[in-house]
Amino acid sequence: MVVSTVGARFEQALDKLKSTGVRMTPQRHAILSYLLDTISHPTADEIYRALEGRFPSMSVATVYNNLKVFIESGLVRELTYGDSSSRFDADMSEHYHAQCENCGKIVDFNYPKLHDVEHIAASETGFVVRGHRLEVYGLCRECASTIKH
Ligand SMILES: [Zn+2]
Ligand SMILES: [Zn+2]
Repeated sequence: MVVSTVGARFEQALDKLKSTGVRMTPQRHAILSYLLDTISHPTADEIYRALEGRFPSMSVATVYNNLKVFIESGLVRELTYGDSSSRFDADMSEHYHAQCENCGKIVDFNYPKLHDVEHIAASETGFVVRGHRLEVYGLCRECASTIKH
């Protein structure tokens, strides 16, 4: 079930890449599959460590450059966190994130898109609003159960 969904999403991603003229290389294939297969919102470094055994000539910079290609093609979104490393998400559906302040884990949750926020922001600031990010933060289930209060 989950595998076939990932398979279908991978096929869609391949079509989209083809239509934008991006060449699919074995490394890109591996990075995209890895991202579609995980729910962990990994950093470039985590992706590199997961795949370096299969691609000895790959570097973190290569991973990052390939991620940029996917971002420009609209297949992956980058979640930036100030000066700490970005995390990457291949789930382009509308969803929000909860982040654990202790272990850094990011978990997806669904909530109806906050259209009002965008409309009010646009009318108060005069911005042409293209989107927004909303994150809740706190302690994940595991951390909440191990940390003494
Ligand atoms: Zn945690
Ligand atoms: Zn996500």
